[in-house]
Amino acid sequence: MTEKTGQCLCGAVKFRATPKANEVTICHCGMCRRQMAGPFFAIECGDSFRAEDSPSLGVYSASDYGERVFCKDCGTSIAWRTRDNTFSEVSVNALNDIGDLELKQEIFVDDKPDYYSFAQQTRKLTGAEVWEEFEAAQGES
Ligand SMILES: [Zn+2]
Ligand SMILES: [Zn+2]
Repeated sequence: MTEKTGQCLCGAVKFRATPKANEVTICHCGMCRRQMAGPFFAIECGDSFRAEDSPSLGVYSASDYGERVFCKDCGTSIAWRTRDNTFSEVSVNALNDIGDLELKQEIFVDDKPDYYSFAQQTRKLTGAEVWEEFEAAQGES
């Protein structure tokens, strides 16, 4: 796929990344919902995520394995990535040109509150199923 660019609301943090496919994953986990003020609309970009150096670039280590990239000035959530940056999920809503996307899967569906749901037919994974797949994928590489 072709490389995409994006930025935060105020423009202080700019990034580029190459999506693996035109497919959106929604994460319903409690950490994403708290940070994003809603479910996380993410596009997988492998190890291609690169944020430009900026004093406004914030990186929050939310867990032993992952960190969250955001803008310290305007608060925009930009990406979730593994600490070694080999895997990234970039916020679709921070891209400059969203393009033609398909809502493909929803993860941590066991953490989703009952008051909302999406109408599309998607592949749905619980948190435990996500970790099983992630560990299997890490083992392959
Ligand atoms: Zn900003
Ligand atoms: Zn999440």
